[in-house]
Amino acid sequence: MRAAAPVRVEPWDAHNQALVANVHPPDWVNPTPAPRYNLVVLGAGTAGLVTAAGAAGLGAKVALVERDLMGGDCLNVGCVPSKGLLRSARAVADVGGAAAFGVRVTGGAAVDFAAAMERIRRIRAGLSPLDSAARFRGLGVDVFLGAGAFTGRDAVAVGDATLRFKKAVIATGARAAVPAVPGLAEAGYLTNETVFSLTALPRRLAVIGGGPIGCELAQAFARCGAQVTIVQTGAQLLGREDPDAAALVRAALGRDGVRLLLGASVRRVERSAGGRTLHVDAGGALETLEVDTILVGVGRKPNVEGLGLEAAGVAYDATAGVRVDDRLRTTNPRIFAAGDVCTEQKFTHHSDFQARLVIRNALFLGRARASALVVPRCTYTDPEVASVGLDPPAASARGLRVTTFVQPLAEVDRAVLDGETEGFVKVHVRAGSDQIVGATIVARHAGELLPELTLAITRGIGLGRLADVIHSYPTQAEAIRKLGDAYNRTRLTPTVKRLFAAWLRWTR
Ligand SMILES: Cc1cc2nc3c(=O)[nH]c(=O)nc-3n(C[C@H](O)[C@H](O)[C@H](O)COP(=O)(O)OP(=O)(O)OC[C@H]3O[C@@H](n4cnc5c(N)ncnc54)[C@H](O)[C@@H]3O)c2cc1C
Repeated sequence: MRAAAPVRVEPWDAHNQALVANVHPPDWVNPTPAPRYNLVVLGAGTAGLVTAAGAAGLGAKVALVERDLMGGDCLNVGCVPSKGLLRSARAVADVGGAAAFGVRVTGGAAVDFAAAMERIRRIRAGLSPLDSAARFRGLGVDVFLGAGAFTGRDAVAVGDATLRFKKAVIATGARAAVPAVPGLAEAGYLTNETVFSLTALPRRLAVIGGGPIGCELAQAFARCGAQVTIVQTGAQLLGREDPDAAALVRAALGRDGVRLLLGASVRRVERSAGGRTLHVDAGGALETLEVDTILVGVGRKPNVEGLGLEAAGVAYDATAGVRVDDRLRTTNPRIFAAGDVCTEQKFTHHSDFQARLVIRNALFLGRARASALVVPRCTYTDPEVASVGLDPPAASARGLRVTTFVQPLAEVDRAVLDGETEGFVKVHVRAGSDQIVGATIVARHAGELLPELTLAITRGIGLGRLADVIHSYPTQAEAIRKLGDAYNRTRLTPTVKRLFAAWLRWTR
């Protein structure tokens, strides 16, 4: 079998060489295919890796095909490097705000961008053995490096090899969508695939798109010292999120010096002597924006091209991705899909849990439903915005009436002590009950607070019951217990109050 085509990740330093040695080894020789596999998995991002490891662990004969870097977006150009950069950004913001805590910092604080990026590359390389070709071979998986494509309803080709399967999983992920703006391609731009290769900080950065990726990276670059402008078509940043949450993120970005052009669209881009010029229609007023670099973060496009989906009888859509039913089965009953290629909620943890579901449904006649998954999400700006379940408009669209309980962090001792009072915990319960249907948290570590509410939704634990859970004092998680108390107070109706008073009088 042929050796894998070499892949480089810039800058080609020791860290990236170590990364590539794990996730796309240059000397990798694909194995001789088995006569037939229980499962062929296309794509070795989170969805593919979890499917392959889980299935092989249960005794299945599995082939895993990856054309680029194992680990996919999350490890290489997504969660890992972005959260690494945000950590450096948080460190400099903390030092800059230290005076509020009585800490004097002489000489000021500044990010050494090259060092911050090197830290990310080092951490990424350090995490990569877990996703490596060698590890998966050790798990008994046949790892094929190369682009895979279906050649029929039960076969995949990778280079010269043909992999025959009983079942297959499409886990080919997604890539950055690029808006059709005249001149953008010629002027050049970065996406998540290239931005983490930077070693020098762009002085002026335009971020097109104010969703989670745009907001996280805009804040990170601004805190690192760049002049950042977000151009966002919608009137609200983080358009999917609770408007109160989005407003707090907007305020935070403003404090970090990020300029926001909301309700604005880029009409045209051209290269200029100093870099790039964006012609922006900002609510009717035309504005020219001079920057060094453009970062595009306007959403994700599923990787459905070149997969031979027609030959396999798998229906798909260029925007929504591979069409699946609630069991994650495609229009070819032998073939399933998982992760970004087939879902609207494009998160690593969602890919992971879809993969677990696919193992059961594809190999063990399972009937697990994707719609039954409770999928939390978090945007890692400072403060973070974490949500789960339905917000009031989504609940109302399903005919559910909700009552909302809000606990501002300004009334939570730990948040006050930490100087992190900006935020809230908002819980929506089904009107007339304590059944939690959704929640949004804005807090510095909202993502760490949300799981208690995700657990409550997943296991049907009512908000009133959360008041029974003792939370250590002082913690920000006490906000959730306080909401439990707030719910229980609503049960103290005038009649109940009168009965209690009568009992206490009688027993005095
Ligand atoms: C900047 C950024 C930050 C993010 N941060 C977070 C976060 O903090 N938390 C979170 O939960 N999610 C985050 N995400 C989303 C997360 O990265 C994705 O949801 C996750 O990686 C999806 O996993 P996947 O396996 O479906 O797809 P991918 O990770 O995209 O993997 C698909 C793999 O398939 C391979 N492939 C494609 N076509 C072929 C082919 N024909 N043959 C062989 N292989 C093929 C690709 O090379 C790729 O390796 C972030 C994304 C970005 C871009």
